[in-house]
Amino acid sequence: MTHTPGAAKPFASSADTAAKEQTLEVLADGVYALTAEGDPNIGAIEGEDFLVCFEALATPVAAEKWLAKLRQHTDKPVRYLVLSHYHAVRVLGASAFEAETIVSHEITRDLVAERGKQDWESEFARMPRLAEAADSVPGLTWPTLTFADRLTIDLGGDRGDLVLQYHGRGHTEGDITAWLPRQRILFAGDLVAIEQTRGFLQAMIREVGGVQQRGGTLKEAFEATHAALVDDYGHWPIFEHCLPFDVSRLWDELSGIERPVIWTAERDQEVWAQLQG
Ligand SMILES: [Zn+2]
Repeated sequence: MTHTPGAAKPFASSADTAAKEQTLEVLADGVYALTAEGDPNIGAIEGEDFLVCFEALATPVAAEKWLAKLRQHTDKPVRYLVLSHYHAVRVLGASAFEAETIVSHEITRDLVAERGKQDWESEFARMPRLAEAADSVPGLTWPTLTFADRLTIDLGGDRGDLVLQYHGRGHTEGDITAWLPRQRILFAGDLVAIEQTRGFLQAMIREVGGVQQRGGTLKEAFEATHAALVDDYGHWPIFEHCLPFDVSRLWDELSGIERPVIWTAERDQEVWAQLQG
């Protein structure tokens, strides 16, 4: 990402309005994924006479476009809509699915109640590209079925099981994965634990922790972390967008703030101005 020296970078992804190309992939018989060059992805799994959908995109209008692609492959009704975690750009399109049951982890339901509205406002301000027809969102998305550890959905016929599993705190406090044991396919939402992610986190902890221990400022921690990461990770989608928020949260965590404070649209702007401005 380039910017003019001396000029403030546009807030988060607010200036990135170019549409991403969406690709529907058939991963196995009756198993589908829609990817979009790093934008939130989404999945669907065919049961014997129903569908399980995984994630819901940011708005009903955006979700309807995905459903139109999916409907070229199957017309089964959506019985379950599974939400991997509560982030507005992945859940607020839920109404388009007309699902019988909306499933999430029980902590995710608590997070909707505690900070769902603020998350909606801050994420839509960060990523207007994703908030297509933002006023088509009818309200917060509430799960109607929650679980604590594991929930197995029998897909019927000879289609096997879909296993929803909680792994502890990760990307949020309530992330779950969806695993198809027969096809060995995992839908992981925003929860990934690969070597690259570990390297990213270790460098962040080293840089932010180092600056904090010597009594430096949050801005210094951001600059040190940016310098340490940009060569290896600067090409990641929304790297520049996320890093100020990543550093701010880690700074809080290393200061003893156990649970993330609520990201409001106002706080988003303050952190951005302080670190990227
Ligand atoms: Zn997320």
